[in-house]
Order: sequence, then structure tokens, then C-alpha cells
Amino acid sequence: MPELTTDLPPTADVVVVGGGVVGAATAFFAARVGLRAVVVERRPLLGTLTTSVAAGGFRAQFDNPYETALVLESIATYESFAEIARLRDFDLGIQKQGYLFVTSSPVTAKRQAQRVASQRAWGVDDVELLDGGEARFRFPYLSERVVSARFRANDGFLDPKRLTYGYAQASSATFVVSTEVSGFSLQGGRIAAVQTNRGAISTDNLVVAAGPFARPIARLAGLELPITTVRRQKLTVMNLPEVPLDAPFVIDEDNGGHWRPTSHGAQLMFTDPTTPPSDPAWDVPVSHDFAFLLLDPNSEHAVARVCPFWRTVWERGSNQWLLQAGQYAYTRDHQPFLGPTPVPGLHLNVGYSGHGVMGSAGGSRLVVDLLVGKLTQSDNPFRFDRPIAPHAFDVI
Ligand SMILES: Cc1cc2nc3c(=O)[nH]c(=O)nc-3n(C[C@H](O)[C@H](O)[C@H](O)COP(=O)(O)OP(=O)(O)OC[C@H]3O[C@@H](n4cnc5c(N)ncnc54)[C@H](O)[C@@H]3O)c2cc1C
Repeated sequence: MPELTTDLPPTADVVVVGGGVVGAATAFFAARVGLRAVVVERRPLLGTLTTSVAAGGFRAQFDNPYETALVLESIATYESFAEIARLRDFDLGIQKQGYLFVTSSPVTAKRQAQRVASQRAWGVDDVELLDGGEARFRFPYLSERVVSARFRANDGFLDPKRLTYGYAQASSATFVVSTEVSGFSLQGGRIAAVQTNRGAISTDNLVVAAGPFARPIARLAGLELPITTVRRQKLTVMNLPEVPLDAPFVIDEDNGGHWRPTSHGAQLMFTDPTTPPSDPAWDVPVSHDFAFLLLDPNSEHAVARVCPFWRTVWERGSNQWLLQAGQYAYTRDHQPFLGPTPVPGLHLNVGYSGHGVMGSAGGSRLVVDLLVGKLTQSDNPFRFDRPIAPHAFDVI
């Protein structure tokens, strides 16, 4: 276990704001280059805001080469985590069961073929394109309406909180909990200290890893971040004999419904493009309509559309479920902001939308390399001032 404290050290090589998976990863990579990091977390434990809601999915199937490279680097880190982190037998709970994107639309099938070709060109050569028959042969629970699928067996899921604690433990950083960052002191225009409700820490470098709170934190240093926060929910249904334990993450590319098995049932999600942005929140409300949208076979977002066994679950009607909610932090192109900002000493590790668990290793390594000058901004596709084209909506 990492040591958690409420005693504030007077100085640090780098202060990280936020003790979610991204803040813990930042501390981990800082330690690897010999930096003494102090992570300041408002809550009494690490990884309890957005990180605790994540489904833990990781995939190399992306729509651009930059995030593909970022996640491939992360996956390689997770695969050898115990060794890299020098934590003997540390188990991230990795289940490589794949990501399976399915469609019943010939138009989307064409887009799937193009996407797979691009992914292969970006170095993901193990992604498979399947026709409906092949997909049903491999995954017999798929409906007759599926005409095409793309599948990568080496994608999968892991335990986001174990990852957070693994990073934290291996970093030997100081984790100051139950402590809120409230402001920054600048000297000659650059970061000189971080103010908290327990006092100040002198530092030349600050990394914002505050998840949905990135925007208000950066604003404390006079920097306006173009990031919006949008509620995203997750439904967990318990005790489901119908769900194959070895199933991949199954995503219906036509209606956005997606699910993955867990040892006690399944986690289900749907990224509703009509959800309006909301202010960053410490307690994100849930809505039971979300469960009905996914489970009712008559809903346009029903998971039963491509996996008919979900109809049996609905008709039985007796399963317990749990709803959780967090917020995606979206940039306009849905790619994170990583690295230095116009405020000297202020660095970003934010804006991962739905990919912060799978992106945390590659992203945080990049942030630390930029901080110590091992990389320059011209090598950084995620720099804050990149030209940004709005992202077309994606189902996941
Ligand atoms: C429903 C859902 C499903 C998801 N599924 C996946 C998935 O399958 N795979 C994946 O990769 N990603 C997934 N994500 C996205 C992922 O959860 C996030 O990208 C990731 O957790 C972000 O981590 P973080 O550390 O940046 O943010 P957080 O976990 O939110 O951590 C930020 C921390 O900053 C702290 N903080 C904020 N302000 C202050 C302050 N003033 N002072 C001190 N501390 C402060 C907060 O208390 C918090 O602990 C999902 C998200 C949701 C909502």
C-alpha cells in the first residue's frame, strides 16, 4: 500500500494535483526519472472519483495514430507491470478477452473495413475483420442481424483501482490526502508554490491531473482550458448465467450499447451523444432511465439488439443492479492535453474523455519526458496549442 498522509511537505520537485489513476501514473513516471513528487488529493483515498467508475477497458482500436501509439505503450506497460514497477506478483487483474465492435448496417460495415485498414497501417496488425457468419461462429451469442465485426483479441480489461494503487506504491511519492488545492503562487510569471487548505508547497513544477476538475484548477493559474465535462453512467447487473465469462467487450456500433462480462455479471454502458455538458461535480447523479435504455429490448439502445440473451435477462426482471456515474473530460478532438502550457511550470495531464485508464501509462510517461526536457513540444502530438478539429461522435 502507498503511504497516505495529511502532512504537507514544504517542498517538492513536482506537485501533482489529483490522485486518480492519471495523478498516480504521473508520480510513478516522475519517480523513474528521479523526481520527488507530492500528489495532493482532495478525498481521503486515491482513485475514488472518475477512476472508480471506469469499466477498465483497454484497446488498441482507435481512430487516429496518436492515441493508438499512446495506448499501445500503455498496454505494453500493463502487461509487464509487476516487473517494470518492481512489485513482485502485483496483479492488475488483466483479462485479455478482446474488444468486438459489431454492426448490422452495410454502411457501417464499410467503415469498419476502412478503420481496420487504417489501424493496420498504424501498427495494429492483429485486428481482425469478420463477416457476420465468422463473427457468429466465434461468438455464438451474436444475433443473425450482425453483418460485420472488427475484433482484437489482445484488447481487454483490467482493474483501474489496482492500477492506481500499483502506480502509487511503486512511485514512493508522498500522497497528501484530504487536502484541497486552492491556488498557486507565481514568481516572475512562473509557478513557485501550490496553495492548499493545509498550507503551501514550494515547487517549480506542477502537473494538473484533476480529471473533471482540470478546468477550474488551470483557471487558478489564469489558464482557460477548452475542456467540457459530460456525465457518463455505468450499469452493473449481478448474477447473470447468460453472460459468457470469456466474452470480449461487445460494442454495438449502430446503437452505442456496449457491455463486458465481470466475475459476477456484466457492466453495461451507452455513450449518449445528446447528454449536455455539466459543471464538474464531486457527486454525479445517476438516472434509472439509463438502465431501461440498455436493458429494455424495445429501446433503440438495447444491448439485446445484437446479443439476444439480454432479452431473457429483461424478461426475468429479477436481477439486482447498481448504477454509477462519473464525468468524461472532453477536449474538442477527444484527445488529451499533455505537457507544458503558456504558464511556465504548469503542465497538463488531462482531457482523456473515456480513455484515461488505458492512456495513463503512455500519457504520463510523455508528460514527464516533456517536463525533464527529454522531449520537446514539436514531438508532442497532444500539446495544448495543437490545431484542433472537432471530433466526429464515436460510440465509445
Ligand atoms: C462510466 C465511465 C466508464 C469509463 N470506462 C473507461 C474504460 O473502460 N477505460 C478507460 O480507459 N477509461 C474509462 N473511463 C474514463 C476514465 O475513468 C477516466 O479517463 C480516468 O479515470 C481519469 O482519471 P483521472 O485521474 O484523470 O481523473 P479522476 O479519477 O477523476 O481523478 C482526479 C482526482 O483529482 C482530485 N481533485 C480534483 N480537484 C482537486 C483539488 N482542487 N485538490 C485536490 N484534488 C483534486 C479528485 O478528487 C480526483 O480524485 C470511464 C469513465 C466513465 C465515467
